[in-house]
Amino acid sequence: MPHATKSEIRPEAEYDVIIVGAGPAGCMANVCLTTYGFKVLHIDNRPTTTEAGRADGLQPRTLEEEGKASLAKRMINQGVRVQEVSFWDPSPTAQLARTSRAPSCPDFIDVCDPYTLLLHQGLIERSFLDEIEARRAHLPADKASPAPHGGVFRPYEFETCSTDESQAYPVSASFVHADTKEKFTARAKYLLGVDGARSLVRRAISGGQPGDGEWQGKIRMLGDASDIIWGVMDVEVKTNFPDIMSKCLIHSKSDGSIMVIPREAGLVRLYVQLQAEAGPDGKQKHYGRDASEDICKSRARKIFEPFKLEFGKTAWFSVYQIGQRIASNYTLDERVFLGGDATHTHSPKAGQGMNISMLDMYSLAWKINMVEKGVADRSTLLPTYEQERKSIAEELLKFDKAYSSLFSGRSPKSDQLTADATKAKALGAVDPELFIETFKKNAFFTSGCGAIYFANPLNALPDSELVKNYSKKGVFNPEGSKLIAGQRLLPGKVTRAIDANLVRIQQEVKMNGAFRIHVLAGEYGKSKAQIAALDKFIDSPSSFVNLYRPKSGVQSAIVYNSHDTRHIEPERGQREPNYNPFFDFLYIFATPHTEWDIEDLPYNARIYRDNIYSDDVYDRRVGKDAKAALHTKWGISTEQGGIVVVRPDGYVGAQVPLNQDGFEALNAYFGGFMSGSQKASL
Ligand SMILES: Cc1cc2nc3c(=O)[nH]c(=O)nc-3n(C[C@H](O)[C@H](O)[C@H](O)COP(=O)(O)OP(=O)(O)OC[C@H]3O[C@@H](n4cnc5c(N)ncnc54)[C@H](O)[C@@H]3O)c2cc1C
Repeated sequence: MPHATKSEIRPEAEYDVIIVGAGPAGCMANVCLTTYGFKVLHIDNRPTTTEAGRADGLQPRTLEEEGKASLAKRMINQGVRVQEVSFWDPSPTAQLARTSRAPSCPDFIDVCDPYTLLLHQGLIERSFLDEIEARRAHLPADKASPAPHGGVFRPYEFETCSTDESQAYPVSASFVHADTKEKFTARAKYLLGVDGARSLVRRAISGGQPGDGEWQGKIRMLGDASDIIWGVMDVEVKTNFPDIMSKCLIHSKSDGSIMVIPREAGLVRLYVQLQAEAGPDGKQKHYGRDASEDICKSRARKIFEPFKLEFGKTAWFSVYQIGQRIASNYTLDERVFLGGDATHTHSPKAGQGMNISMLDMYSLAWKINMVEKGVADRSTLLPTYEQERKSIAEELLKFDKAYSSLFSGRSPKSDQLTADATKAKALGAVDPELFIETFKKNAFFTSGCGAIYFANPLNALPDSELVKNYSKKGVFNPEGSKLIAGQRLLPGKVTRAIDANLVRIQQEVKMNGAFRIHVLAGEYGKSKAQIAALDKFIDSPSSFVNLYRPKSGVQSAIVYNSHDTRHIEPERGQREPNYNPFFDFLYIFATPHTEWDIEDLPYNARIYRDNIYSDDVYDRRVGKDAKAALHTKWGISTEQGGIVVVRPDGYVGAQVPLNQDGFEALNAYFGGFMSGSQKASL
């Protein structure tokens, strides 16, 4: 698709989805929706991507899903990996000493990229836009409306929107070109308000008047802000501080705290507590929001003492106030959705905002896809967006509040904690051990892997309505299972049978909007009958594969949607492969692939020949005695096998045995939110 300048192209009148805001959340929404084949209008009021500063930390769980969207590689090449965190505090013998070290992502967290990746928000946004541009080239003609590079119209300012369900395109939005002041109106089926903390989309749907800086309408921003002000800067520094290339959390004796983050291009990010001299009551005082860069630098030098800190070029400087706020609703009508900073804000030091914002949209996009392609029930699926993502944001805010107050607290004088701990704490002192413990304890959550969903139709947990009321007990979540519905799939390596390549099972199916059905087939000889029964079930008209089929020709995505191989199936011409684009099957045998042949498998398994594996790769987390590491890790018997359903966003949805009871249970699971075909509106 040729690049076009912003002045040449004008938005059209109708789109499937309008996205307002091209920060991390908006970019993620666009890449997903474009991948699913939607016609998207994306606007942002800035003339370019973020040029400096703002978010810079990508957590392991985000990288895991970006890997599936083919986005992670470029970012990993450009960024800096934080493997370790150092804690610096006053000690009995030194003004400042390294008191502890901890891995950035502790070893008990089972991830492929066990680090925080640091690079600035602009580089992340640009990676997204280039990927969107590449994918737009695959859009069918009726969806590929002209747009500037990456599909983002700039600088376009959103003004307002309204919804009218009687229209084919229920949402109407108006916006204005920020330079020419030319006005536009466009209609769409959905509008995603990812326009940041001061969201105008939120105000448009919420109503109400500007009050204390938040909009007190139907949607309220719940929470509060503290009076603690921090400065943040991306700078070049020279120093004799030994850990400048590590992430460091430094509590000085009485001058406040600092966080050091190594960055790309020779920069360092410093988060500096802007603490002024204590008042007569002994309590901390802080500079206001008007604190200058010079004040920030002088506070940083003071906190670093006795180490020297010399400043070079400043790439970015800002101040912020610590607070935690969450929107009471993420949508009012399941047409206009909010996400990212428009729904939750908190302090940036835990490196979470960009991650949770992107994953909000990652979670919403596949749900819209299924509804619009006519295979899912709108009234069941779309409410799960707010339900799932709001509960994650609530957890984050709780963590952030505790973490921020520990960070902003004053380090106690060396004798205070033992001599008069209660008084010291009342004056704002922080126990360094408690701080380090809080950091370590929350590493699972901050890595993104601890973001857990509760029971709902998508997560067949024991307390879900589906499992509680299911007539056959013990079919869902079979005994011994180590995966948990509503939690991410544990990663593992397997051997791909067609080419004997060692691959990561969780990356084998890229982001394509489909559910992944992992058939853990146990030992080859022992599961033949069950695999044959599954083959028969897949062919039966009442199986979920056939019940929840989109209209002929409708795909779940415009890329990663093909199972074509160079292999000529013997059945060619007599029997069409029974693919449903919303389900991808993966078959994993506990027996090495050298001991069996794909050709001997039933037809419905063979047609997924690129996704047939043997579970014969060593996994140190399982131990060398386990013969089939993935079966063992997931808690599935190699005698009986099992089936693990993974949602399009990488979360486990359901687990059942590899037998007729299990197949019927899958019908019940998918029947809980999918719908008969032919309702596609695309
Ligand atoms: C100093 C700082 C450091 C941070 N560090 C981290 C970190 O290390 N890790 C992390 O995960 N998060 C961090 N964050 C938080 C992170 O920046 C945000 O959480 C993240 O950018 C949210 O993404 P978003 O897309 O929801 O919103 P934003 O990034 O705010 O994007 C919103 C977009 O909408 C546009 N927009 C706004 N209004 C309109 C309108 N009316 N019309 C059209 N467009 C509009 C804006 O121009 C912007 O491009 C940090 C934030 C700050 C301020």
